[in-house]
Amino acid sequence: MVRDLAERGIKDRRLLEVMSAIPRHLFVPRPLWHLAYADQPLPIAEGQTISQPYIVALMVEALQVGPEHRVLEVGTGSGYQALILASLAAEVYTVERLAGLLEEAERRLAEFGRKNVHFRLGDGTQGWAEHAPYDRIIASGSVPEIPGSLIAQLADPGRLVIPVGDRHLQELVLLRRVGGELLRQELVPCSFLPLIGEEGWKE
Ligand code: SAH
Repeated sequence: MVRDLAERGIKDRRLLEVMSAIPRHLFVPRPLWHLAYADQPLPIAEGQTISQPYIVALMVEALQVGPEHRVLEVGTGSGYQALILASLAAEVYTVERLAGLLEEAERRLAEFGRKNVHFRLGDGTQGWAEHAPYDRIIASGSVPEIPGSLIAQLADPGRLVIPVGDRHLQELVLLRRVGGELLRQELVPCSFLPLIGEEGWKE
């Protein structure tokens, strides 16, 4: 799987190493284990999905996560991406709106012995103000517009990656804050499940 990611243009060596060390099958339901290393999203519980590995790699690479960074993740899901981020960054703060998913992700990450992931049940479109600002913010669900709360909680310098568009099709947007200015760049078209919340989509 990781060799394919490199062939498709993912260059960040540290990220590729981290991804090759993480057993993705442990984040999907057992009947889907045989598909866990194919480059595709897979259903997890509660009608949600674990993102496609290539998209995870693309997003995390665009984020340029360093060992000193504090990262906010919106949409914990299976916890797979949280574990990747936790292996690259200093601290990861992850917010999920569905209790069942959050509990399972928390249990899984405990099995990996990760102590630098902090979990919160709630509406991540409003970020997690208590621990702001964040050097990096990543959302694994789509929004119609970049939530103002996330922009407000982004450090300077800082990078935010989020799928922005309509319910079915979005552009992966990289927002950088540099010297007080915001620079917006569209990376690739993508299709994510919606973030449901105050600054996302209605139920
Ligand atoms: N990063 C995940 C993929 C998550 S899919 C992984 O690696 O498995 C998107 C997740 O966002 C779903 O679990 C969904 O329940 C969650 N979500 C939707 N709206 C949300 C919100 N407002 N706040 C936090 N999480 C939300």
